[in-house]
Amino acid sequence: LWELVSRLIQDCQALPAEGSIGTLTDAFVMLVQAHVPVAGLSDVSSRESPELSDLTKVGSLIRTVLDRLRELDPLGGDLSWREWVELFQRVLDETRIPIDEERHQGVQVLDAMTARGRTVRALFVLGMNEKLFPRYVREDPFLRDRQRVVLESTLGYKIDEKLAGHEEEVLLFELLSRSATNRLYLLYQRADEAGRVMAPSGFIAMAMRDPRFVATPEEAVPRRLTQRISAQPSIQDLLPAEELTLGCLLQGHDAGPVLEAMGRDQRLFEQGLATLKISERESPELGPFDGIIGAQASTSSATARRSFSPTALERYATCPFQYFADKVLRLEPVRRIQQDHLPPLTIGSLVHESLRLSYERLLLLKWPDGPLDEARVQSTVHEAVLDRFAAHAASQGTGHALLWTLACEQVTELVAAAVASDQAEYLATGFRPVAFEAAAQGIVQLESDGPAVSLKIHGTLDRVDYRSEPPALRIVDYKFKQGNEISPVDRNLALSAVRGFRLQPPLYARMTLPSLPAATEVQLLFLAPQWKQQISRSTFEAGLWTGQTGALIGQTLTTLIQGIANREFFILPDGYCDYCEFTGACRRHDAMAWWRSYRSPQARVLRKLRKQKVQDE
Ligand code: SF4
Repeated sequence: LWELVSRLIQDCQALPAEGSIGTLTDAFVMLVQAHVPVAGLSDVSSRESPELSDLTKVGSLIRTVLDRLRELDPLGGDLSWREWVELFQRVLDETRIPIDEERHQGVQVLDAMTARGRTVRALFVLGMNEKLFPRYVREDPFLRDRQRVVLESTLGYKIDEKLAGHEEEVLLFELLSRSATNRLYLLYQRADEAGRVMAPSGFIAMAMRDPRFVATPEEAVPRRLTQRISAQPSIQDLLPAEELTLGCLLQGHDAGPVLEAMGRDQRLFEQGLATLKISERESPELGPFDGIIGAQASTSSATARRSFSPTALERYATCPFQYFADKVLRLEPVRRIQQDHLPPLTIGSLVHESLRLSYERLLLLKWPDGPLDEARVQSTVHEAVLDRFAAHAASQGTGHALLWTLACEQVTELVAAAVASDQAEYLATGFRPVAFEAAAQGIVQLESDGPAVSLKIHGTLDRVDYRSEPPALRIVDYKFKQGNEISPVDRNLALSAVRGFRLQPPLYARMTLPSLPAATEVQLLFLAPQWKQQISRSTFEAGLWTGQTGALIGQTLTTLIQGIANREFFILPDGYCDYCEFTGACRRHDAMAWWRSYRSPQARVLRKLRKQKVQDE
């Protein structure tokens, strides 16, 4: 080894320090030939051999690189070894050895542009539909072809004419059709994924008329796999494993051996098949895959243990599956809908907080009967709103600054209007706020076919108003609304309660607060910037519980509680589905699930609630 290395060092030292490209290249070749025998590099004859080994190919290419360097010799000038190495490296980088030089036989999948001009035995052209091939060509309405011609002829700017696209497509088809030496297959779709009819390309008729081709009758490939197999049983040997399994199943054969050969989980498959059979059955009865998850011991024991909030019951009345997803599974939406403005929920909670803080501060100033002028009320409200917004911004950020400022102004205006309205209301009725965000509970006795049912309820009351003479208690619930007008559901609270749409008013009326008398009425106070009247009220009289309306509300509650106790969490699709947070987990788009959600006895019971009427009492 020492001898070898010493000789190499000696020869390196004997190299010229600098020289022309040719001189340095020759010196390098001699050095390599003396010390590193590389097949193909020194042996010129081997380069012509057709069966070159990989190493010989490399040597041969290095030799080509060195030859290219020698070609630069006439440029003259001397180089240092560093400069020569840089040049050598650059030419080496540009040299490539193809991974596989073999010509490919068999099937090639190419796009039309790549396939044109090639010669193949059989050519299958897919997508021979109108507007696909030929593509849809039309003039640019902003720069017509004649204007493009003018631009080219006067200014010399070449801008392609759009309508020339027709001729390009014809030429492309011509080249493609000439590529096939034996057979040309032109395939088009009869319909798209949505079932809309698709027209065949005009090129097909053109090819049928072309005397170069001997046209065979058009062949329609059946849409269904079973029909395809029965029309041409031999395709079973060529089907992908998944389609073969499907074919076996559709023809009633055992797909087990195919699954086993594919290494698929057969148990999972069988379970899936059994589930599919149940969920696809033609029966209006709800089953385990329709949200019927098994009843509890009894309605009374199920409800005796639990306490319900009015909104939870409203949710069940709207759609039992929504209730299941939210209250039982406690699912949270994975993707929240992106909005370019502050979500109504955020503004709603800011309105609630601002109202509470404003009233608390105003009460300290002896509002509503103290000597408080208009300006002082306004400034108190303004400061309270600013404080609430600042606290919210500190914890959750503001989002877009302009929208935040607009929201702040809107909430200030709404809260000021609510305070002014409450002042007038105080003068007319004598009710004044005494508590905010108060936790309350209650029990509602419900009639049922079996033993009496006690429904425990709880809730947080936005505001409690009290009147000393005559004594009365009013529960106020704030509602921030962004629509254009009040909905019928909010206008007639008694009817909405009977139908299960609004259960807060009747249930709040049955809740009690420590050291306060029973509520005489529940009022929804609407703060709606878009309505004709920004501040509106709807009232539910607690006395309605004692009449026919109360009995109907009790029946509605019994129905809902029984549904929850029986653990019937079926879907109940309607217009509100568009805003449902759980739509991703819902099977309402499945035809059979949707059908049962209309025809099942349980769904009919809930839908019937929505058609109930009340008489004026
Ligand atoms: S999308 Fe409609 S049916 Fe499905 S859970 Fe939501 S509300 Fe119910």
